[in-house]
Amino acid sequence: MTSRSKPARSGAAPPATRSAILPESIRVGAHVSIAGGLAKAVYHARALGCHTMQVFSKSPRGWAARPLDQKDADRALRLRHEVGISPFIVHAPYLINLASAHPALYEKSIVALADELDRCDAMGADFLVLHVGSVQAEQTDGIDRVVEALKRVLEHQPSRSLRFSTMVLLENTAGERGEVGARFEELGEIMHRVGSDRMGVCLDTCHTLAAGYDVTTPVGVETVVRAIDRAVGLSSVKVIHANDSKKGLGCRVDRHQHIGLGEIGLNGFRALLTHPLLRRIPMVLETPKTSDADDLRNLRTLRRLAASASHVTDFPLTRLQEKHGQRRESQRDRIG
Ligand SMILES: [Zn+2]
Ligand SMILES: [Zn+2]
Repeated sequence: MTSRSKPARSGAAPPATRSAILPESIRVGAHVSIAGGLAKAVYHARALGCHTMQVFSKSPRGWAARPLDQKDADRALRLRHEVGISPFIVHAPYLINLASAHPALYEKSIVALADELDRCDAMGADFLVLHVGSVQAEQTDGIDRVVEALKRVLEHQPSRSLRFSTMVLLENTAGERGEVGARFEELGEIMHRVGSDRMGVCLDTCHTLAAGYDVTTPVGVETVVRAIDRAVGLSSVKVIHANDSKKGLGCRVDRHQHIGLGEIGLNGFRALLTHPLLRRIPMVLETPKTSDADDLRNLRTLRRLAASASHVTDFPLTRLQEKHGQRRESQRDRIG
C-alpha cells in the first residue's frame, strides 16, 4: 500500500483545513483495489480520507471468482462501521451483458449477476453498480432482455433470504458500441418494468456528458437534474461516479479524466457538487490512477469545489426542490 506517500503538489490543491469545514452531508470516496483483501481495502480507503468506497468483488474482466473469505468480509464490515465509511459500493464485472441476444452469454450473465449479488450480501454491500449491457446494431429488444434478466435475478434472491438486501444500481452509460442505458428514459423504463424496490440508479458524470447531457454549467446541470427526475425520479439516484471526461459533449466515448482536467471541467464539477439536490448523494471517483497521489488530488478537488457554496445560494428554490422537501441551505450549512 502506497497510501502514505505524499501526493504530488498541485497548483489547485486547497488548504488542508478546508475539508474540516465540509458539511456533514457531503460524502466523497474512491474506487479502491481489493488486492490483499477487503479489510485492507477499507484501511486504504480510510488512509485516502474516503467517507464512501467502491470495489470490484473479483476481477472485473473475468468470469471466474475465488470464493469470498467470509472472515475478511466480516472484519471489513466492522472496520467500515468503526471508521464511518458508508455506503459501501460494489461494481459488477464488465462481462455481464443482460441485453445480449446470444443465448449462452445471456444465461451466463444472469448466473454471474446472481452470484455477484450473493457476494454483495456476504460483504454487507449497500449497492451493486451494474452496466446493463449492450446490443448489436439494429437490435431494438435489448431492454426487453434486460428487464427479463433482472426479474429472474431478483426473484432468485428474494430479499427475505438476505442479511443486507443490496440494491442494484443501473449505471447510465456513454452509449458506446450499442450500450443500453445512455438515455435516462431507458433506465426509467427498465426500473418501471422490473418494478422492484431493490433497484436504483448510479449517475456517472463522464457518461452523462458523453451521452449528450451538458453538465458543464449550472444551467446545464439544472436541466439534467430535471431530466433525471422526470425519467427515473431523483430519489432513485443513490450514487454518483465523479469522473471528468476526456472527450466532449455527445461523443459517446467512455474515457475518464481527472476532475477538472477534462471536458466537464472545474466549472461543471462546481455546479454538480453545489447543486442542492446532488450534493447529498455519495460520490465515488473512478478517475485515472497511477498512484494514490491521483486519488488524493482528485478527492481534494471535489471537496474544495463542494465547499465553494456560491452556486448553492444562487440557485432559485425551484418546484423540483420543493417537491423533494428541501429549502434553501441554512446559514449553518453555508461555507466560505
Ligand atoms: Zn462509472
Ligand atoms: Zn466509464
